[in-house]
Amino acid sequence: MKVIDHIQQAKSTLFSIEILPPLKGKSIQSIFDGIDPLMEFKPSFVDVTYHREEYIYKKREGGYLEKVSIRKRPGTVGICAAIINKYHVDTVPHIICGGFSREETENALIDLQFLGIDNVLALRGDSIKSEPEFVPEPNGHAYAIDLVKQLKQMNNGTYMENDLADVAPTNFCIGVAGYPEKHYEAPNMISDMKHLKAKIDAGAEYIVTQMFFDNAHYFEFVKKCKDAGIHVPIIPGLKIMTTRKQASALSKLFKIDIPQPLLEQIEKCKTDEQAKEVGIEWCIEQSKELIKANVPCLHYYTMGTSEVTRRVASKVF
Ligand code: FAD
Repeated sequence: MKVIDHIQQAKSTLFSIEILPPLKGKSIQSIFDGIDPLMEFKPSFVDVTYHREEYIYKKREGGYLEKVSIRKRPGTVGICAAIINKYHVDTVPHIICGGFSREETENALIDLQFLGIDNVLALRGDSIKSEPEFVPEPNGHAYAIDLVKQLKQMNNGTYMENDLADVAPTNFCIGVAGYPEKHYEAPNMISDMKHLKAKIDAGAEYIVTQMFFDNAHYFEFVKKCKDAGIHVPIIPGLKIMTTRKQASALSKLFKIDIPQPLLEQIEKCKTDEQAKEVGIEWCIEQSKELIKANVPCLHYYTMGTSEVTRRVASKVF
């Protein structure tokens, strides 16, 4: 079932999660171990992130360095299929522009269609570490909107080879990312909002936000979206802080603000165990306030910490 149908049929705020594929070499059991404790809250859908290749230099005989492409977390599509098979719950694979040509994207989407997966979160992806800025693949997409357009074309039965006979249109529900505190590359919020609106106009049906720790950012963002003519559901993405280091690490990595009262509480903690308790309490309060505001769904970035997500969910669902 499509995410948009879950939202439209819901009588109250839904619960959903995002998981990361395990590191290469680990078994699918680590995914199941993460999902099992959360099934009692009946997630409407499970997002599975996509991780592109990275380049590393390996020292070879004779001392020369070989540039090697590695993918640390492969398996997004297989994990989605395994989750559907085991839990009969809908999945949302993330599809990114980075590392994909248009043809590879088309083939990946055909795989999803054959697996009966009818949701996709369409993203650009970040630049790889060796590149200062995002570089699209030759014949690939430069922005998420281009991916949305390709998806929409396939939904209308148009594939890249336009002389195909008797084509079966795909039927994807397309989600996109939004940034309550602005995407880090956007020169200002107005510009970021303009590009977000373009993704919706191109066919995206809902938005999932970057994590935020101050609900005021979300409420302000929703208002700005409405003012900009964006009327699709906006799903807040929440992360539970679990260590003392995360206050600065998350802020740096995701270019987001940590509210001063949360920072002060974290700074008082002597152990990560204490910081985790602060993080859980903070997220419970955030969740309760968002539910009160009738948000369509609470989407938790579990990042391998399903036990803390379970503790939050047990207090709010
Ligand atoms: P876009 O919408 O393409 O925007 C990127 C930047 O370009 C923005 O600053 C925007 O304002 C600007 N822009 C957009 N269109 C244009 C245009 N036509 N001309 C000029 N500027 C433009 N990354 C992964 O690698 N894998 C994942 O699984 C993943 N999951 C994510 C899930 C969520 C909910 C979120 C919020 C992010 C996720 N990311 C993931 C990270 C995401 O890929 C990065 O934040 C990336 O830098 C931007 O992606 P986007 O889809 O928002 O890009």
